[in-house]
Amino acid sequence: MTNVKITIAGPRGRMGREAVKMVQETDGFELISVIDHKPEKVELRNVPIHTSIEECFQSNTPDVLIDLTVPEFGYKHTKTSIEHGVRPVVGTTGFTTDQLQELKELCEEKQIGAIIAPNFAVGAILMMKFSKMAAKYFPDVEIIELHHDQKLDAPSGTAIKTAEMIKEVRETKTQGHPDEKETLPGARGGDYDGMRIHSIRLPGLIAHQQVLFGADGQTLTIKHDSMNRASFMSGVKLSVETVLQLNTLVYGLENIIE
Ligand code: NAP
Repeated sequence: MTNVKITIAGPRGRMGREAVKMVQETDGFELISVIDHKPEKVELRNVPIHTSIEECFQSNTPDVLIDLTVPEFGYKHTKTSIEHGVRPVVGTTGFTTDQLQELKELCEEKQIGAIIAPNFAVGAILMMKFSKMAAKYFPDVEIIELHHDQKLDAPSGTAIKTAEMIKEVRETKTQGHPDEKETLPGARGGDYDGMRIHSIRLPGLIAHQQVLFGADGQTLTIKHDSMNRASFMSGVKLSVETVLQLNTLVYGLENIIE
């Protein structure tokens, strides 16, 4: 069997470094190049470094592009990959609904697979699935997501995805007192279909989320913590293996994990 040829965009980043290690240590995976806009800072040996995706695809075309960069370039990389017949596995968060829809349509037009996963940690996927189960019985829910203070987007992609999954089973409901007023703007968090999402940013954190349900006389809390970025790599590996079999865009790892 031939190796899966992989390019990683963002190899110097905290996620990118783990992905480089995972790809280099996985039998059957081959890191054929990386994309970094500051190539002088990349410390990898024996791996070609390209400053842009266009330059990369001119010299070698991988089977899969793993993108772990920033929303603006992540979107551009994903779109360019699909246009070039390269399957993207995207961990970068912060894509808009319109961008996701456009990429989905592009995959359908090109009949090519792509995976965009706001959270590659299997435990986080289970947290979302359990939250969806609970929301059927507990429609009053608030989400608290906690991340390191270098994160660019808020709320996290995982928090939005959790709210989306809950919305599938929960009747729209405005929570809290009908006359409640914020004396400090933002105190009640973001509003998603009546559910409140609160984003905490602090040094020392990695990626954490609590989903709190309340009902008469009882509460239920579902909680997940990623202690390090290695926690995401089994999901990246599974996504690389899976995307080769797809001819459509899958958004969310929960759609490929039973
Ligand atoms: P990070 O440490 O800031 O890494 C991002 C890297 O991308 C940096 O090295 C940055 O370089 C580089 N970069 C920026 N523009 C680029 C371009 N045009 N070409 C190539 N590289 C470029 O962030 P991180 O913690 O690794 O996270 C990366 C992304 O993954 C974020 O969107 C984050 O929210 C997301 N994330 C996803 C998961 C998941 O499970 N899906 C988990 C954690 C994080 P400079 O800093 O020098 O500009």
